[in-house]
Amino acid sequence: MKKTFVRRGHFPASASRPVVSPLQPSVVYASDSPDMLDDQYDGITPGFVYSREGHANATALATLIDGLEGAEGGIVVSSGMAAVTAVMLGLLKAGDHVVGGSQLYGRSLRMLADDLPRFGIETSLADSTDADAMAQAIRPNTKLILVEVVSNPTIRVADMEGIAALCKENDTLLAVDNTFTTPRGYSPFDNGADIIIHSVTKLLAGHSDAMLGYVAAKDPAHSEQLDGIIATLGLTASPFDCWLAERGLYTFDLRYERACQNAKTLADHIADHPMIKRVIYPTRPDHPDHNRAQFLLNGQGGNMLSFEIDGGRNVANAFVKGCENLAFAPTLGDINTTISHPASSSHRALTEDQRLRMGVQEGFFRLSVGVEDINLLQGEIIQGLNAAKATS
Ligand SMILES: *Cc1c(COP(=O)(O)O)cnc(C)c1O
Repeated sequence: MKKTFVRRGHFPASASRPVVSPLQPSVVYASDSPDMLDDQYDGITPGFVYSREGHANATALATLIDGLEGAEGGIVVSSGMAAVTAVMLGLLKAGDHVVGGSQLYGRSLRMLADDLPRFGIETSLADSTDADAMAQAIRPNTKLILVEVVSNPTIRVADMEGIAALCKENDTLLAVDNTFTTPRGYSPFDNGADIIIHSVTKLLAGHSDAMLGYVAAKDPAHSEQLDGIIATLGLTASPFDCWLAERGLYTFDLRYERACQNAKTLADHIADHPMIKRVIYPTRPDHPDHNRAQFLLNGQGGNMLSFEIDGGRNVANAFVKGCENLAFAPTLGDINTTISHPASSSHRALTEDQRLRMGVQEGFFRLSVGVEDINLLQGEIIQGLNAAKATS
């Protein structure tokens, strides 16, 4: 007999297991009985209940990133900013004070400058390449310091040793946004950090098709607080994005290695071009934090490379148009090289004076170097520089 109404049936059973993690978009999970649900909530029986509180694809991904970071109980959330939000709203309260690096990711800066103060959380910014400057920003109520190891877009390297010592001395939590450096470039938990933050959107997922974040705490009590605020604020990740990111993560090691090599080679290759005023890359001896970078980043320089070309907006336009096969897009960590122009994007809200004091001129560019064939990539960038030269 034909049916008129379709009720959900059971997924076909298979004694053999799929090799690839199944994608489970289910928002709800059915339990057998109230007793079983009790046991699930009490942690006696494993299982998920409602996906805002956790789901299989997020846990699968988080466990893999935990492995890379030497963390336990890390949580995957809907974006890197969701991870920053979870740390600030989950671990702090009104009356606490936070110190942030003065060159944090733009939205993190905005959260510290505009949002946290509305909730009674005091904030200050200080130069993270200078632990003494950070020390001067400490107050009796300083609860947390948030830093990135490598700054955007000036590729300066923070004084991580000095800052970790400062946090220890003052009983302050150290949160490290490890997005730029990745677990391959820097190990926050081995170097005194209490909290690790990632924008998984970037190098870890690596294909610009999933927006996700990750947060892990060393202290299980903090992990529990983070878990709670993430479910309450709804910072949960989508299963599909987690599934895509898991796929990306399996090649992270290869991609990072190749991108670092490409960035280093490209930095040296373009340095002598007549349009180049300066190249900023940590393995170069002319980098202002060269020695610190050698020590902190295991001799690697990462995939981010900045440089300044001689000229104003017209020359900048010509350079971008000249790199015709490269995406001019404000992201990083993609398999393909992307070009960013901070003066018209990430740093457009700053006054010209503020921007220039950071060394971000009109001709300042930041590349997120991808995994392309290096000869192809060098040719494309030189083509852009030659186009800029023709305009200048
Ligand atoms: C991109 C980025 C973020 C924010 O991540 P989203 O996934 O875009 O929310 C935070 N910190 C750093 C260093 C980033 O590059």
